[in-house]
Amino acid sequence: MEKLKQIYEGKAKKLYETADPDLLIQEFKDDATAFDATKRGTIVNKGVINNMLSEKIFVLLTKKGVPTHFVKRLNDRDMLVKRVEIVPIEVTIRNIVAGGMAKLLGLEEGIVLKEPVLEYHYKEDKLHDPLINDYHIRALNIATEKELDTIKKYSFMVNEALKFFFDSKGLILVDFKLEFGRCKKKIILADEVSPDTCRLWDKTTKEKLDKDRFRRDLGNVEEAYQEVLRRVME
Ligand code: 5GP
Repeated sequence: MEKLKQIYEGKAKKLYETADPDLLIQEFKDDATAFDATKRGTIVNKGVINNMLSEKIFVLLTKKGVPTHFVKRLNDRDMLVKRVEIVPIEVTIRNIVAGGMAKLLGLEEGIVLKEPVLEYHYKEDKLHDPLINDYHIRALNIATEKELDTIKKYSFMVNEALKFFFDSKGLILVDFKLEFGRCKKKIILADEVSPDTCRLWDKTTKEKLDKDRFRRDLGNVEEAYQEVLRRVME
């Protein structure tokens, strides 16, 4: 499968058309951005690592009953995916307080939540991805009630599957962000699942092994991504 016309370039990925109108190639870049793209950099081999990690996780999630856009990994940086119409909602699930939730509610990072917290953000860069609720989603007409129910159900299924999976690799799944798309009128998981989109802490040392190392200039960013890959592939 060859890359034809580039149809999109985001902060971390590019999308290309292929000879099959239903399939796209998702290319993972080493570019990293944070804080509304005001902080920019590269993480050596991030694209290669996130491609492999996303493959592993999409395969796992498919087995757990969550449909995804993943078709197959083509090479180091490219993944063949189903063409979807992205629903402009970022779904965040949190098991432990960190990042945005610590800031929003003035809470200490590291508090273990009694039940997972689900958040929706409107995927709109110029508005800085504001926090929204299901009433906003209906008002904006960006997803139907039925689609939102499916999105919510799949998001919690992803949380259960990944909490268990990462725990078996000595990692705590603190929180993560998902994006969904419509493919032949059905909701499926799209985008990527990687240390760019998940917070992962070492189970014993609580060391951060995700994009927070880049966001907060903690050093050893590449090493952290490599370490997650090493453990996941074991
Ligand atoms: P927070 O809202 O605390 O900043 O992020 C919650 C979780 O979602 C974190 O795991 C974070 O990496 C992920 N996340 C939220 N928004 C974005 C985004 O725009 N890009 C990426 N890559 N991850 C995000």
